[in-house]
Amino acid sequence: MLNINHVRQQFPILTETVNGKPLVYFDNGATTQKPQRVIDAIVHYYTHQNSNIHRGVHALSRTATDAYELGRTAVQQFIGAKHAHEIIFTKGTTDSINLVANSFSRAFLKTGDEIIVSEMEHHSNFLPWQNLRDEKGIVLKVIPLTATQDLDIEAYKKLLSDKTRLVAVTQVSNTLGVINPVKEIIAEAKKYGAKVLLDGAQAVPHMKVDMQELDADFYAFSMHKVYGPTGMGVLYAKEELLQAMPPYQYGGGIIKSVTIGTSEWADLPNKFEAGTPNIEAGPATKAAIDFVNEIGIEAIAKHEHELLIYATKQLQAIQETEIYGNTANKAGVISFNIKKVHPFDTGTLLDQMGIAVRTGHHCTQPLMHCLGIPGTVRASFAVYNTIEEVDAFITGVKKAVKMLL
Ligand code: PLP
Repeated sequence: MLNINHVRQQFPILTETVNGKPLVYFDNGATTQKPQRVIDAIVHYYTHQNSNIHRGVHALSRTATDAYELGRTAVQQFIGAKHAHEIIFTKGTTDSINLVANSFSRAFLKTGDEIIVSEMEHHSNFLPWQNLRDEKGIVLKVIPLTATQDLDIEAYKKLLSDKTRLVAVTQVSNTLGVINPVKEIIAEAKKYGAKVLLDGAQAVPHMKVDMQELDADFYAFSMHKVYGPTGMGVLYAKEELLQAMPPYQYGGGIIKSVTIGTSEWADLPNKFEAGTPNIEAGPATKAAIDFVNEIGIEAIAKHEHELLIYATKQLQAIQETEIYGNTANKAGVISFNIKKVHPFDTGTLLDQMGIAVRTGHHCTQPLMHCLGIPGTVRASFAVYNTIEEVDAFITGVKKAVKMLL
């Protein structure tokens, strides 16, 4: 059983008030709050360990390097990667996907090759491929949605062809919370020899992900959405792919040797980590993963699911609201509108009541075009949210209905 008080006590920000009201933080899809141990890890790093990593022989540099690399090992174990060097540290999901678009395309793509994305992608998993279409003459195909806003898997199967080189889809929609059948998507792609990139930004915080079980070729996520630091992203990729791909940024840290004539690349993962990274995010990443492991990702998923079911039921009972993503298989995200009301107006009123939700297109404009709406109000849950907070949110929505209609 989740001890919610014990969980909440670990997050100092949750005692803040907003507009004189206790903060109800339902914007976890954008970023989660940080437990004390993550904050402490950053303070500890700068107080006791600060030094540049990897190239120093002095003690402090070795300490900082070890602390940073412990973050990598923690990620490796957390997502079940075979090797720590299959974990490339980036700035975030966006950076991870851009790395693949840039490097994979130079190694493996030519004009006329095809990439498949879906209509529900975050712009981070859409624009890099749209750009390749325009720059390299790649054909970009888009999986449509069904009436319940699931991916249309039958349509997907028809989009696949011998020319498909990459399928890049999100595991969980940041706007709708819909969980996609990624194992089936991967199995279908493999029939054509296509590689698969999963955007795991909204999956890793909410469910167990295991690279051996999923067998994705690339997997991207951001630590700041998993109770960890900003500026720390992960690109997991299978070793043989990383070996075959060229660096995507050039500079210090990625080489074995450099002469005026040529350069030899460093071993993995350094080949893809040019320049000084966000070092303190290494130990902070380990602290965040320790936090999740201590509770257990399954317990987190169960708690968030209870919040989702409860909130959905309450919201459905308010006739003036419309919920998007009406499928059974969802993570803790609920997107809705008060009918005929702009989401910004609803969000602004909720903010006055201390309730933080996200409003707008959620960086999924193609999805908004598909739904025929300018945006939604999105409440996204984390392990520290409570049923009482959902009640406060529902009271807020009812007030907003009265005031805005
Ligand atoms: N992909 C999805 C599904 C997301 O939800 C987000 C952020 O909201 C991103 C990608 C981009 O993540 P970041 O801004 O951390 O790079």
